[in-house]
Amino acid sequence: MLDSLRSCYLLLLLFCTQKVVVGWVSSNNVRQPFSTTSASSSGSSSSSNLKMGVSATMRRVRDSVLSKERSRKDLKIGIAGFYDRSSKLWENVWGEHMHHGYYIPADRTDHQQAQVDLIDEVLKWGDVTEATNVVDVGCGIGGSSRHIARKYNCKANGITLSPYQSSRGNELAKEQGLSDTVSFQVADALEMPFSDNSFDLVWSLESGEHMPDKKKFTDELFRVAVPGGRILLVTWCHRDLGEGETSLTKKEVKLLARINRAYYLPKWCSVQDYVDLMKAKGASDIKREDWSYVIAPFWKAVIKSSLNLRSLFGLLKSGFSTIRGAYAMLLMLRGFNTGLIKFGLITCTKPKVSM
Ligand code: SAH
Repeated sequence: MLDSLRSCYLLLLLFCTQKVVVGWVSSNNVRQPFSTTSASSSGSSSSSNLKMGVSATMRRVRDSVLSKERSRKDLKIGIAGFYDRSSKLWENVWGEHMHHGYYIPADRTDHQQAQVDLIDEVLKWGDVTEATNVVDVGCGIGGSSRHIARKYNCKANGITLSPYQSSRGNELAKEQGLSDTVSFQVADALEMPFSDNSFDLVWSLESGEHMPDKKKFTDELFRVAVPGGRILLVTWCHRDLGEGETSLTKKEVKLLARINRAYYLPKWCSVQDYVDLMKAKGASDIKREDWSYVIAPFWKAVIKSSLNLRSLFGLLKSGFSTIRGAYAMLLMLRGFNTGLIKFGLITCTKPKVSM
């Protein structure tokens, strides 16, 4: 089964590589590259453009095949593009929440409700009963922000790297009558455009895994929280290292590297690493939990949902990175099943007196 999927993937890779080359050529306005009637100067610049395009594409394909880690700059551009391209398809199939669902009991089939329940259950787990001003760090198209704003009758600000997500988030806020209290913008979580001590709830649901500098990310979460404010982080982590272990095994590192290429992720950290970062900030009420078992049925449901004609057609239209993302779902499943990947919840209170 896996082998045949792998062959399909390679075929798609070849197909899409071809598409990328063609796309690159047209986006650089190289018209009629093989025309014999074009002027010689434009002909030579066309052919050098073409060469550059082909070599850039070959480099990308090689890096993909070798699961090479992206530079920070490529990562940031890649994340924005990935969500720009895939969010519409996700919303069509799955709705406004781009995260796992809460599967207790495990056989529930109302997947979109399971996603909403996950937000409520995480808030309950984090002892959040009220909020006045929330920041949603890595907000997608804003499902969490709108839900929390309605739940607590509060304000919410969401940030994302994707211009498509930010404008779609604002559009949905307007449609849902929330444009006075909820808004979205393109901004980097590692340099948030907010003043210190602004929010009493700092919420980050499945975006931490994209952050290339976990310390800077944690520092920013603390900086924008009001003293005594609550920070709630739900993120993909790798397993905690055992005693005497200094790193993951080579096989584990390789699996994560392949997932990273597909989902535009940098190096992972463990839940314990986040706890250590929070301790270093002087946080109180630090609590952690592994909810891998809570979300376990989710990936199977997503894979199943992508096997209908509408999704498959949408997938082909969305391009190579979305198709690769779909393939990587199988790798995620393997990571969860082997205990390498954890669905981590971490919460704490920002100290009243800053350290
Ligand atoms: N929390 C949302 C979306 C999760 S998808 C939801 O549950 O529906 C991950 C999100 O993280 C995307 O919106 C992506 O743009 C955002 N993201 C990744 N890196 C980011 C960064 N450096 N700064 C801001 N947002 C980032």
